[in-house]
Amino acid sequence: MKENMASLMAKDAEVLLHPASSITALLANGPDMITSAKGSTVTDANGRELLDAVGGLWCVNVGYGRKELADAMQQAAQQISYYHTFSNASNPWQVALAEKLLSKAPEQMTKIFFGSSGSDANDTIIKLVWHYFALKGQHSKTKMIAREQGYHGTSISTASLTGLGGFHKEFPLPLDFVLRTECPHFYTRGKAGETEEQFCDRLIDEVAQLIEREGAENIGAFFAEPIHAAGGVIEPPKGYYPKLQSLLKANDILLVADEVVCGYGRLGKWFGSQVLDIKPDFMATAKGLTSGYFPMSAVFMTQDIWEVMKLGSEKLGAFSHGYTYSGHPIGAAVALANLEIIEKEGLVELAGETGRYLHEQLQAEIGDHPHVAEIRGRGLIAGVQLVANKASKLLPDPAEKWPLKVANACREAGVIVRPLPSVGTIAISPPLVITREEVDQLVSVLKQAIDSVTFGN
Ligand code: PMP
Repeated sequence: MKENMASLMAKDAEVLLHPASSITALLANGPDMITSAKGSTVTDANGRELLDAVGGLWCVNVGYGRKELADAMQQAAQQISYYHTFSNASNPWQVALAEKLLSKAPEQMTKIFFGSSGSDANDTIIKLVWHYFALKGQHSKTKMIAREQGYHGTSISTASLTGLGGFHKEFPLPLDFVLRTECPHFYTRGKAGETEEQFCDRLIDEVAQLIEREGAENIGAFFAEPIHAAGGVIEPPKGYYPKLQSLLKANDILLVADEVVCGYGRLGKWFGSQVLDIKPDFMATAKGLTSGYFPMSAVFMTQDIWEVMKLGSEKLGAFSHGYTYSGHPIGAAVALANLEIIEKEGLVELAGETGRYLHEQLQAEIGDHPHVAEIRGRGLIAGVQLVANKASKLLPDPAEKWPLKVANACREAGVIVRPLPSVGTIAISPPLVITREEVDQLVSVLKQAIDSVTFGN
């Protein structure tokens, strides 16, 4: 097995193009091969155990190695394997799952559309927004507003929504249906002397001006992660969402909550919208829906959207959108088993409690660190903002690669955290089952790593 593994490691770069990865680094260092996982711990090809404080890619909410999920998958695989859901085909698992999801969602949500990834969920929503307004005769409402440092996926349309330059620079992107507005981050975007409330009002005013300039009749929706995840774990200032929402409503622009990271308990409630008092017209979810065990997404929509589509259907016939794997019975079975664990083990409440402990510990250990400007987030998501100079708010020089070096030092000490180099931040988003002892280990390792990188010892 060991020899076999060495040869697999050597072959990796010969046969694979890795997503969001550097070919140069792969050729120099080989792959980061993970061979098994349990709870919040993953094991690499050398048998080394690592505390995964990112939960894979912010997604393994119930932790690794859950037998109930494997059993549910096996049972559905044996009973049906696969059947499509086009042309009104269905399966019992997707019906039960949609019903369960709606029972947890904000009350205005009444219908679900299934896909396979966060990107295709947002892609679907773009098309649904176009479809909805076209059916109402508002054919020009095709543009979408999205924020700097938002992350909504990497397909052609959703990479366009994503407000991180790295996802555009190698491609002719973003497409011009996207209108960009400011990232709601007070620390980096607030002006000298400005209060957080004034900052908030300025952001809303900017959106109002953007709408005025482009014309409300040309704008369909505003995309927002309740808390930006990959863009730096950023929560907007207090009052932002209520003000944004009334502005959008006044201009007949829909609000889309991208809950791909915030959904399924991470913030201490089922959905981020419930934590941040958002009343969206659509929600995009994926990741925690199956805890990453199966690629699956769910789009939530309101009755109003559906009623318009129902009338449209009488005129147009079929809604011509969907995927081979929409409503996949194995995915739906895993998602049901996953949600059952979240309910049975009280993981939503636990995420709130362990999250509070995580934030307290981070604050106590590194809150006053001269190179830590902010510890952001809530529940089991956290962003540690590194800073070169606290007094002048000077962010780290990207050439110094502090986030990457901190993540590497953590890794050396047995803990995986996620570096967000473009925003000088370290992200933490562990399984919701992470224990307090594991949180202690994470915080202590992170403190030492930040010390060694920023003080150079
Ligand atoms: N939206 C958000 C908020 C995300 O964090 C991600 C993935 N990190 C996506 C969408 C895209 O999901 P996927 O990679 O499954 O396409």
